[in-house]
Amino acid sequence: MRLQQVYAGGRFGLSFEIFPPKTPEGDAALRTTLNELAVWNPAFISCTYGAGGSTSRQTLDWCQYIQDQHQVPATAHFTCVGSSRNELIQWLQAASDSGVRNIMALRGDAPHGETKFQVAPDGLAHASQLVTLIREQFPDMGIGVAGYPEKHPESCDLGSDLQHQVQKVAAGADALFTQLFFENRHFFQFRNRLHELGVTVPIVPGIMPITEYARIVRISSMCGSDIPLRLAVRLEEVQHDKVAQFEIGVQFAIEQCRVLLEEGIPGIHFYALNKSPECSRILQELELPQTSDWGILPRPLGTR
Ligand code: FAD
Repeated sequence: MRLQQVYAGGRFGLSFEIFPPKTPEGDAALRTTLNELAVWNPAFISCTYGAGGSTSRQTLDWCQYIQDQHQVPATAHFTCVGSSRNELIQWLQAASDSGVRNIMALRGDAPHGETKFQVAPDGLAHASQLVTLIREQFPDMGIGVAGYPEKHPESCDLGSDLQHQVQKVAAGADALFTQLFFENRHFFQFRNRLHELGVTVPIVPGIMPITEYARIVRISSMCGSDIPLRLAVRLEEVQHDKVAQFEIGVQFAIEQCRVLLEEGIPGIHFYALNKSPECSRILQELELPQTSDWGILPRPLGTR
């Protein structure tokens, strides 16, 4: 199913994001996680593309696994890092040959050890150019792009960053998936401003349940997301108690999702981090149907 169809006619799209593990133990654990996530009948599961193209083949292998093993549509993330235009086309062809029908089109970041994104020789500088390339060469591919409610870390101001989000949509993206955020007001402001700028494609919030105090600093420095003091303080108080941290992080995400659902969102994209307990618990408490067709769900979802 193409991304455009996922949200068509008010359909609600649940999705999970995973990444290719680096060890055989990680592979085995991810297979178990996928068994547990698939029961939620997601509209798709996406698999990230490693920094600098480090997981180029694994991304496609996991997408194929998800589709073959679970009959769940997969979305392959893909970046411009280190590839010429021809190499980008070759990978996209391989994705298409693997049965992938949706691409998360990204610019990507500098590979480990480098500080700044460099355009590859004969390569692309921005995600919008990758969207254009995909639309030209693979017109039937569904295309998702990244959005930043708290602006992309490299951007000087939200206004110009928003214009760049609009460019990606104008180039042919079917849906926009946000960077993780913890304060819903950032998402609502971002969505309003994009609507004012004429964006009509689904804007899907990206949610990451944060169930470890130690992860707070890493997340905040990685993507610049504003971490609410009330969450940080509560996690810090129980930083030696894993169960309590899990409970606090999950309850925070449940509340966050409830408010988002009440305000109307086309779907939720969970940054699952190759784990299922957090997402499963959140979905159970939101009382969303587990295996039925997602179809058009009554609103407000969170209060059902
Ligand atoms: P762009 O949209 O190109 O934006 C990058 C920067 O350039 C922004 O500051 C933007 O404002 C600016 N810009 C854009 N267009 C122009 C223009 N025409 N002129 C001047 N400036 C411009 N990374 C991975 O490596 N692998 C993944 O699998 C991955 N998955 C992700 C999934 C999601 C949902 C999100 C939100 C991010 C993901 N990322 C991933 C991270 C992403 O690659 C980085 O955030 C990267 O720094 C920017 O990628 P982008 O596609 O947003 O780039």
